[in-house]
Amino acid sequence: MSSPYRGRHKLQRLQKPQSNRPADEVVKELKQQQVNKPTYREQSLKIHGLICAKCAREFDLTNKHLLTVHHKDGNHHNNPSNGSNWENLCVYCHDDEHSRGILGDYLNS
Ligand SMILES: [Zn+2]
Ligand SMILES: [Zn+2]
Repeated sequence: MSSPYRGRHKLQRLQKPQSNRPADEVVKELKQQQVNKPTYREQSLKIHGLICAKCAREFDLTNKHLLTVHHKDGNHHNNPSNGSNWENLCVYCHDDEHSRGILGDYLNS
């Protein structure tokens, strides 16, 4: 038995998704959310201090942007609040860690 509503269903399925907000409005909102909660980077710097875990170079407020947070297990979504998965590395050591890490991780496991 053919339904008289078949054509209508098809039309509904072709409708655009409801959200038609401009992309930069969405981006703005996401950024605001990030600002409101402290980032894992700030938490890690607080827990481990402004010092590189590898070369022991010390940082202060004027150059702390050179200090980055490395995830020990490589999983950026694994952020325990006690900082057990974080390591503060300066950008140079961090770079080094990753350039060798890709192969090194395989060799070590
Ligand atoms: Zn370093
Ligand atoms: Zn890293």
